[in-house]
Amino acid sequence: MSGPIMPEADADVLGRRQDIVRALRQICPGEGVIDGAEEMRAYESDGLTAYRQRPMVVVLPETVRQVSAVLAYCHENGIKVVPRGAGTSLSGGALPLEDGVLLAMGKFNRVLEVDFDNRCAVVQPGVTNLAITEAVKHRGFYYAPDPSSQIACTIGGNVAENSGGVHCLKYGLTTNNLLGVELVTIDGEVVRLGGKHLDSEGYDLLGIVTGSEGLLGVVTEVTVRILPAPETARAMLVGFPSSEEAGRCVADIISDGIIPGGMEMMDKPAIHAAEEFVHAGYPLDVEALLIVELDGPEAEVHHLIERVGELARKNGATTSRVSTSDEERLAFWAGRKAAFPAVGRISPDYYCMDGTIPRHSLPEVLRRMSELSEQYGLRVANVFHAGDGNLHPLILYDANEPDELHKAESFGADILKLCVEVGGVLTGEHGVGVEKRDLMPAMFDETDLAHQQRLKCAFDDQGLLNPGKVFPTLHRCAELGRMHIHRGQMPFPDLPRF
Ligand SMILES: Cc1cc2nc3c(=O)[nH]c(=O)nc-3n(C[C@H](O)[C@H](O)[C@H](O)COP(=O)(O)OP(=O)(O)OC[C@H]3O[C@@H](n4cnc5c(N)ncnc54)[C@H](O)[C@@H]3O)c2cc1C
Repeated sequence: MSGPIMPEADADVLGRRQDIVRALRQICPGEGVIDGAEEMRAYESDGLTAYRQRPMVVVLPETVRQVSAVLAYCHENGIKVVPRGAGTSLSGGALPLEDGVLLAMGKFNRVLEVDFDNRCAVVQPGVTNLAITEAVKHRGFYYAPDPSSQIACTIGGNVAENSGGVHCLKYGLTTNNLLGVELVTIDGEVVRLGGKHLDSEGYDLLGIVTGSEGLLGVVTEVTVRILPAPETARAMLVGFPSSEEAGRCVADIISDGIIPGGMEMMDKPAIHAAEEFVHAGYPLDVEALLIVELDGPEAEVHHLIERVGELARKNGATTSRVSTSDEERLAFWAGRKAAFPAVGRISPDYYCMDGTIPRHSLPEVLRRMSELSEQYGLRVANVFHAGDGNLHPLILYDANEPDELHKAESFGADILKLCVEVGGVLTGEHGVGVEKRDLMPAMFDETDLAHQQRLKCAFDDQGLLNPGKVFPTLHRCAELGRMHIHRGQMPFPDLPRF
């Protein structure tokens, strides 16, 4: 395969492939198992398309009992498992393994219950993010986290990545809107964490599972909070002569005590690409654009629009428009939501990064990013969840040019290290996966990483669930019990490391 170094394939498992496929067929009969090379091609990669790997076999369970039996079988027989939702991960979280089962959850696609009294919905993990809102909107409700991929990505994937979207500044990420999950652990045990109630007894295991990138268990049911849609929502398009001025305006809005429903920023290359693609009505004579959505009761929204307008003028805004209808508001957002595919039209390839910084560092990070852009000779288009400091630089490159992918990856790694250097973190919402795995030491030392892996061991003692993701070095759990290195001697020297 191309891409990152993954755990070495287990020759013994590969040698048993036919027996394994036969056993899995007994658990998931009919169309529940795909093992043909051509048919498995569709599963070779996820949203991080630069990396590909054909799985050993694809399994599509339909019931929790089947998920449990598949996992118990894999656990007993030392077989790795990679869970998969819609495969839109941008960090390679669902990248298959040559000697692993790819457990695709697409058949878990039913909304099980909508409970308006308790303001929640119970859904299977393969339900798309947008389908939850579709299921509740007839009563004026919606599901708040709205990744741009919401038409395709599944709620199971959202839980695993703790996904966010443009409205998460005010309404929170997946973790803030999640009430409970049913999870199957690698030994086949079915556990319930949380539920319709607001808080759970004991440790916050739901918090641990959220964002665990398929390393702790397979989610088979999700209970999410649903919210009444705000009475009014209006969006402002505000253009600035520089990203620095737009960045300062963002800081001023937040420090004024205003929490917009969404506050996004785009730089000139992203504005032009989006406008050409969806004709959202964006101004083309500005260097940076803010989309600020204010929502709530009519009178409050009116007041906030005035105030944001004042702050924008104070920070040098040259254009400002307020949506006058819901169609226009959605058109303003359509450009932002289509920014990735729009940038895909102006460059043969692009590499989407995801780092988070303290808001006040934005001008410095933008300046240093443009220096890096010159240094690497690669263009970059920027879209940000500006309100929460989550950057999505899109590095433009051409995979057909020798070494450009490698250059794009190095450029991306430098951007993420810069995020950590200014006090931020390696990821905002796309996860670590394989993409940022080897950068983890830029943020965590060996002790931190060992503690995180001990937690993983409590759920998965053989390291069979999604290995090769998140942790740069996989230690065996037995070894982690004793991390003490005596006179330079590594404990368990015979254990393989990669
Ligand atoms: C164009 C585009 C725009 C995007 N915009 C956003 C955005 O605005 N915000 C954002 O946060 N993300 C965004 N993403 C990233 C991606 O859509 C999210 O990470 C999403 O949550 C992945 O969901 P999925 O169903 O595709 O999961 P997959 O890609 O299939 O899997 C992602 C991870 O979840 C694990 N997983 C999946 N299902 C389960 C399960 N049932 N149990 C346990 N683990 C599971 C997998 O093992 C993997 O580690 C975007 C992606 C694209 C392609």
